[in-house]
Amino acid sequence: MLPVIALVGRPNVGKSTLFNQLTRSRDALVADYAGLTRDRKYGEGRLGDRDYIVVDTGGISGDEDGIDSHMAEQSLTAIDEADVVLFLVDARAGLTAADEMIADYLRRSHKKAHLVLNKTDGIDEDAAAAEFFSIGMGTPLPIAASHSKGVRQLIDYVLEEIPEVEDEFDSEPEEPGIKMAIVGRPNVGKSTLVNRMLGEERVVVFDQAGTTRDSIYIPYERFEQRYTLIDTAGVRRRGKVHETVEKFSVIKTLKAMEDANVVILVLDAREGIVEQDLHMLGFVLDSGRSLVIAVNKWDGMSNDEREDVKRELDRRLNFVDFARIHFISAMHGTNVGHLYESVEEAYESAMGRWTSNQLTRILEDAVATHQPPMVRGHRIKLRYCHMGGSNPPTLIIHGNQVDSIPQSYVRYLENTFRNVLKLMGTPMKINFKGSE
Ligand code: GDP
Ligand code: GDP
Repeated sequence: MLPVIALVGRPNVGKSTLFNQLTRSRDALVADYAGLTRDRKYGEGRLGDRDYIVVDTGGISGDEDGIDSHMAEQSLTAIDEADVVLFLVDARAGLTAADEMIADYLRRSHKKAHLVLNKTDGIDEDAAAAEFFSIGMGTPLPIAASHSKGVRQLIDYVLEEIPEVEDEFDSEPEEPGIKMAIVGRPNVGKSTLVNRMLGEERVVVFDQAGTTRDSIYIPYERFEQRYTLIDTAGVRRRGKVHETVEKFSVIKTLKAMEDANVVILVLDAREGIVEQDLHMLGFVLDSGRSLVIAVNKWDGMSNDEREDVKRELDRRLNFVDFARIHFISAMHGTNVGHLYESVEEAYESAMGRWTSNQLTRILEDAVATHQPPMVRGHRIKLRYCHMGGSNPPTLIIHGNQVDSIPQSYVRYLENTFRNVLKLMGTPMKINFKGSE
């Protein structure tokens, strides 16, 4: 399970600067797509040797009467769900009333929190730190976020304190089979879909559902294929039947995606695609997981309405054209069975293994059909290819002058590999290695 780091602090102390530093590090699988707005408040990152989730909880201004009324609910939830809180203060501005208020809140919440002294570039660190001892949060950790100074040390330090716990579920001896996360914003029909999928006659649900702090893991079998459904909606929480509506949590959703092989993203046909859906798609892309899209509540819509929805999907989801889209009614069960075909196809694409011989042959054919361009009088040479990883499939191509390969040629190679290997439902990654 990924550790969650929450950034808190009043406005202007440098939270978003630090956030960008912490999330920029993980090499983005997919370049930024027009139309895909990223939720700048939640991100995944990696500095050093562990992945983590970072949340920028937003700022609070100086003159409130109470902190709770002024922090949005999602921010408080984020602090609550974090493994560690980084409380940022501004070394140049010195200690303010708002800082004291936040410190007080954190003390009462009994969260593991570190005081981080930002903007220490070009000033006397010790003198600046001295002022903050009075808030009783120990020695401040000095950084200069905009100069990347001390950021790596900070992360090493805070992550060291968070043990790498095995999932409760991972320790189960049983084969998890294909792990699917059902995700989507509130009210799109996740719970209804989970109940529908598990309620099918041919489904045998095993008894040992594991709960992590975040989601429920439900192992089952269908036509002799093993699955584990990661239920973010909390339908089967501790045997109770869906009495309290589960609180929606972005962090829980991110963790579920990270732990899945295939993500089933549920959309609501009646509401079309909204901002929050796009944020979730951005997270799926970041995670590199396979994706199947289920457009729910397809029942009772007129033909015209259906055409409108399809047009909107075409227009706005072109950046995830590797994913299959199903129009379903979780309520009536229509087309729900077909989701499995795409889940399996996506899983097989994501987990496929190909030998260096196979991959190199595809590369050679691709190059023979369409040569890479000349760079400074020399032709880019691509020599051989092998696998670097799965879920998503990652190919490593060795050659000369690989830094000069234009994006258009990378896309050509990607399309060629996709077609020949019949990859569907999964993103893929190509990395180049120069042999100089
Ligand atoms: P937020 O409101 O807490 O998210 O703060 P921002 O990240 O937007 O930063 C506020 C301002 O402080 C911006 O102008 C940043 O460029 C600046 N800033 C952030 N980190 C540093 C730093 O380490 N040193 C200096 N000198 N300025 C910084
Ligand atoms: P969740 O918050 O994503 O778990 O959503 P729920 O499963 O609780 O569903 C939210 C609402 O949408 C409920 O009132 C459901 O009855 C309704 N709903 C779910 N699936 C469908 C569907 O396929 N068709 C229609 N018409 N309504 C649905």
